[in-house]
Amino acid sequence: MKIAHGRVVRMHYTLRDAAGTTIETSRGRDPLAYLHGSGQLIPGLESALDGATAGTRREIVVPPADAYGEPDAAATMRVPLEDFPPGLELEPGIEVQAETPDGPLTFLVASVDDKEAVLDGNHPLAGKTLTFDVEILDVREATADELAHRHVHGPGGAHA
Ligand code: ZN
Repeated sequence: MKIAHGRVVRMHYTLRDAAGTTIETSRGRDPLAYLHGSGQLIPGLESALDGATAGTRREIVVPPADAYGEPDAAATMRVPLEDFPPGLELEPGIEVQAETPDGPLTFLVASVDDKEAVLDGNHPLAGKTLTFDVEILDVREATADELAHRHVHGPGGAHA
């Protein structure tokens, strides 16, 4: 059965950046199960998998535009140090939660000086070309419930 809109796919994947460093992998744990066409995967990966069958193993390279987009300078905020909770060890690379008009969001601390911290609200993979090594394990029709909920039920899915 081919991967198509409204079918459930189980696959193993390894995600690497352009330098070949592994960012994430399903190897050694449960495979990923997703409902094709529901937007659960980044657009470039989902469209590349269209029509693939069980047993397919291949490498898919996704440019930033079809992954997490380019970094947006407007997503960067300068926050005075006195606005952070006392005792918080602020250093580049840590993540902090901040209240925004859209609710709490996680920001990466990009830099800190003696007056303020620069927070980066971009997705950590923004601007990166991503390489996925995927192996399709099986493809099946989604159930009516899965289509209604727009996610997979059972092993690897919701309400499991
Ligand atoms: Zn459900």
